[in-house]
Amino acid sequence: MTDTAPPAVPASPTARPRAAVDPARPGPVADVADRAAAGFADRYAGSPAGRWAAPGRANLIGEHTDYNDGFVLPFALPLRTVVAADRQDGPRWTVWSELSGEPVSFGADEVAEPGRVTGWAAYVAGVVWALRDAGHDVPGARLAIASDVPLGSGLSSSAALEAAVLAALVDLGGLDLPAERWPRLAQRAENAYVGAPTGILDQSAVIRCRAGHALFLDCRTEAIEHIPFDLAAAGLAVLVVDSRAPHRHADGEYAARRAACERAAHLLGVPALRDVPAAGLDAALARLDDDETRRRVRHVVTEDQRVLDTVELLRAGRVRDTGPLLTASHASMRDDFEITVPEVDTAVEAALAAGAYGARMTGGGFGGCVLALVDADRADAVADAVTAAYAERGYRAPGLYRATPAPGAHRL
Ligand code: ADP
Ligand code: MG
Repeated sequence: MTDTAPPAVPASPTARPRAAVDPARPGPVADVADRAAAGFADRYAGSPAGRWAAPGRANLIGEHTDYNDGFVLPFALPLRTVVAADRQDGPRWTVWSELSGEPVSFGADEVAEPGRVTGWAAYVAGVVWALRDAGHDVPGARLAIASDVPLGSGLSSSAALEAAVLAALVDLGGLDLPAERWPRLAQRAENAYVGAPTGILDQSAVIRCRAGHALFLDCRTEAIEHIPFDLAAAGLAVLVVDSRAPHRHADGEYAARRAACERAAHLLGVPALRDVPAAGLDAALARLDDDETRRRVRHVVTEDQRVLDTVELLRAGRVRDTGPLLTASHASMRDDFEITVPEVDTAVEAALAAGAYGARMTGGGFGGCVLALVDADRADAVADAVTAAYAERGYRAPGLYRATPAPGAHRL
């Protein structure tokens, strides 16, 4: 896994941390779109036919609710993956990423069935495979990829890559494929070709989000609604803290949580935990006889309700008032679902102590990122407080970004 994060802040408890918040962190050399085009020119000569971007995403609230048929509320980040591409003859695809060095090339045989292209290029081959499997005539293409989305931090660089590639291939081939159908296709690429069992959240977010909005997604019906999330108008900012904690047993723990939820739904006689209403929680818990299962269920049921409550507050323009829901969500993930680690708990505590209205881990857990809702003019101070708390504990310096809800995948 390549680490694309900016250089670490010196970890001295006494030194004042470098002003750490970067509005939309420019890449190491140039703007990410320019880097994709320059990479294209270097590798393939000539200029690309176009550039397509897809963002990373953060989930404002609604964690581990997706596979319980529940609710999530992600928004797109101003960090982007950009693909510069043009057509090439025949069923042949050549892909290069600034993070990988040498281009990878594959043809019809390699996308005839999953698993033949491995490594990072599998995400690209998976998109080609999923498109062809759905009956589309995918044009051969040369693609060059640059990205500001940190890899493996839970901001969904994988879905950003899939979505940017999908957007490029759909456009280059003039394919008849409305954007509503893109998320399932990209998810299929990741589940069936790459072999990563993700839900529909990531791909929906990076494809369907709108600037200035969060995406309210019902994971059972896949109905979406764009909810105004205008931080600037409220004088607020969301600070994203990349804990940079190594993911510890994340796959096994994820599978265990998922299995516990499915078992509990079965015991309760409902199709999924989404079908336990918040008002019926106590009665449901009384029917379960072990404490751990009760806590898992309590997280999912209360978390679904917190998503609904957050949506109501945002609809009413009460962005700041969502803070306590975010913090309650974190406590639920820490105490009931047990998916946080000391680094993320530290970030949440430090942000709250420095005046954040609310803070929580975002993503599947066991590492990853924290969101803090802060006054826009306090973002740097809160970032500094988190950096100082990390230095005190001897943790690796966190990555820090200021997130404005950005648009989903689009052509530049
Ligand atoms: P996340 O989606 O949370 O960032 P994942 O483990 O799901 O983490 O996906 C990260 C993987 O996606 C990387 O290890 C790499 O294989 C692939 N990837 C994502 N973005 C790029 C990129 N710009 N260039 C090459 N590979 C990428
Ligand atoms: Mg991913």
